[in-house]
Amino acid sequence: MRLKIIAGNWKMNKTNAEAVELTRVLVDLVGDREHPRVVICPPFTALSEVARTLTGSKIHLGAQNVYSEESGAFTGEISPAMLLTSGVSYVILGHSERREYFAESDQMVNAKVKMALQAGLLPIVCVGERLKEREAGLTEVVVGEQIDGSLAGLTEEQIAKTVIAYEPVWAIGTGKTATPEMAQDVHAFIRNRLKSRHGAVADEVTIQYGGSMKPDNASGLLSQPDIDGGLIGGASLKAEQFAKIVDSV
Ligand code: PEP
Repeated sequence: MRLKIIAGNWKMNKTNAEAVELTRVLVDLVGDREHPRVVICPPFTALSEVARTLTGSKIHLGAQNVYSEESGAFTGEISPAMLLTSGVSYVILGHSERREYFAESDQMVNAKVKMALQAGLLPIVCVGERLKEREAGLTEVVVGEQIDGSLAGLTEEQIAKTVIAYEPVWAIGTGKTATPEMAQDVHAFIRNRLKSRHGAVADEVTIQYGGSMKPDNASGLLSQPDIDGGLIGGASLKAEQFAKIVDSV
């Protein structure tokens, strides 16, 4: 059985007080859940306070980015050690918003993935095609290149620790969701690609779906054989909605 993971990407939302409040409600609703694994990813500024609020619960803490160097003159960046000492265990890397607004390439994502794994963080690596690319029949070309580039040079052991999030860019924050069949096709493609590059360990890799996942579409998506959880944006900011998605696994 592959590990199922529901992760909430809070993006650039929530002051510290708001983050603690949302966390308290989540601890009440899903704080005792081990299956699926629940991960919340608040902004950097709230990590330490959210970590304290999570004490005693089974919810894991994630960050939304990390830099690919250990320390030094990199103004504004955050290192893996800083995250670890803030109670973080997961880190989202290569989200389409980072690729789009901050020009993150597969090479940069790859450097971050390697640094995160070396430090003991578990990466959630995001891939996904834009609408124009899907319409041009390029989904597998684009996603295949992102998978190869972002995970280049990882050992089998490192691949086993890596989570992939398939997030079609056209479905993020738009209310448009891939149908369960469309998502399953790409998830199966990703698993086969991982198999061809990294071997049988591909069967152990958790592949999440992300893109307007909500309580009313979650169970259809999560019942597909290669969809092992979700990366949730908008609905993760509403405790009841997020908890319902957790419940539908
Ligand atoms: C995301 O940004 O990772 C995401 C899936 O967002 P949303 O659920 O809002 O589409």
